[in-house]
Amino acid sequence: MENLISEILTVNKSQKKHKGARIKVCSIVNAKSGQCSEDCKFCGQSSFNKADVKVYPLIDPEKIKEVSMQTLENVGCFGVVSSGNSLNDEEISELCKMFKKHEKVSHLGVSIGKISDVSFMRLREVGIKKIHHNLETSESFYPNICSTHDYQEKELTH
Ligand code: SF4
Repeated sequence: MENLISEILTVNKSQKKHKGARIKVCSIVNAKSGQCSEDCKFCGQSSFNKADVKVYPLIDPEKIKEVSMQTLENVGCFGVVSSGNSLNDEEISELCKMFKKHEKVSHLGVSIGKISDVSFMRLREVGIKKIHHNLETSESFYPNICSTHDYQEKELTH
């Protein structure tokens, strides 16, 4: 791991100059996989993509908790990531129940697609402070990589 960190910092001079010789290591769980209705061309989770990915519904949140607690012994933060345009209310509720009693909730983040204002507030109330968002590409190039939603809507998704 030390060699890898040293290599990353050698390549990334800007990081080293502005943030020092430190990087933060995070980990994720793919909490729900495959069959996304969107057609983002780079993404193996899309149902339009022929990639041979595992397909499964939302993992039992208690299992997510167990894995995150183990993983957080070695990394600084842990992301719960799901495929799909968004999670439904029931799935958000299941996750929120678990987040509420998670001893290390301040080290958790989510990347769960589009979320409503209500879901955002629910996540916030149970202690989630990080919501991950991929930049992917510019607004002008966006129609070349996705046709099922536009850049404005994308800003609310993965
Ligand atoms: S919305 Fe997210 S999960 Fe679905 S295809 Fe696009 S990047 Fe992949």
